[in-house]
Amino acid sequence: MTRVALVSGGTRGIGAAICIALQDAGYRVAASYAGNTERAAAFHEQTGIPVFRWDVRDYAACVSGIAEVEALLGPVEVLVNNAGITRDAMFHKTTPDMWNAVIATNLTGLFNMTHPVWPGMRARNFGRVVNISSLNGQRGQAGQVNYSSAKAGDLGFTKALAQEGAGRNITVNAVCPGYVGTDMVMAMPSDILREKILPQIPVGRLGTPQEIARCVAFLASDDSGFITGSTFSANGGQFFV
Ligand code: NDP
Repeated sequence: MTRVALVSGGTRGIGAAICIALQDAGYRVAASYAGNTERAAAFHEQTGIPVFRWDVRDYAACVSGIAEVEALLGPVEVLVNNAGITRDAMFHKTTPDMWNAVIATNLTGLFNMTHPVWPGMRARNFGRVVNISSLNGQRGQAGQVNYSSAKAGDLGFTKALAQEGAGRNITVNAVCPGYVGTDMVMAMPSDILREKILPQIPVGRLGTPQEIARCVAFLASDDSGFITGSTFSANGGQFFV
């Protein structure tokens, strides 16, 4: 059976690796993105995976975007909520706009993307929802009160919704990556990365998007049906829950 998977923010970084891992595992995959059309076109060219532009902060846009995906590929059986942003600053310098942008994308985005596919998953008695949270949602990080709050919220979302889905064979799990070498992390000042971040990672390196994608591919698979409400940490030994 060929299942259909939708990955938000699937056109670059961790999301792109997730799309490719799922495609390699035999899924029919769709990727959404926010506005970087050039990267999305290059990703489509490279993989053949259809790409769809809409903003996960906008519920109506998610409903119509998902309808487009389903018209092309069929009902979404696997949803990976990966789209995310940072707007880092110490709390006293964080503006309401920086707070709202991060909460809307990284937390409300999960509601906006999951709510439209949930009734179909319930009706079909099958679903896999995988939420990409973060190490910094688990432990909190100075300079990221907004991001840590949203990512911790993702874990609450995961645990509560897992309880609602369990009786219908819908699993809801979270993956918490540590520092992975994507645009998001490479945008940090290189001295902070070299002197502050890397020394904190016991394995001595950043993670790769593919290492996160393999966790997601397992949680998306039919084999993972007994795992729900869980948090997979993939952080190079930086933090143990
Ligand atoms: P990138 O910045 O490389 O890619 C982010 C993706 O999300 C892009 O495809 C982007 O689209 C999309 N996106 C952003 N905002 C929206 C929006 N409002 N609507 C739709 N799509 C959106 O991020 P990463 O690959 O680094 O991160 C992926 C996920 O992993 C995020 O949730 C992040 O918080 C999490 N994470 C990352 C870590 C890391 O070290 N990199 C560590 C822990 C967690 P577009 O290309 O159009 O901008």
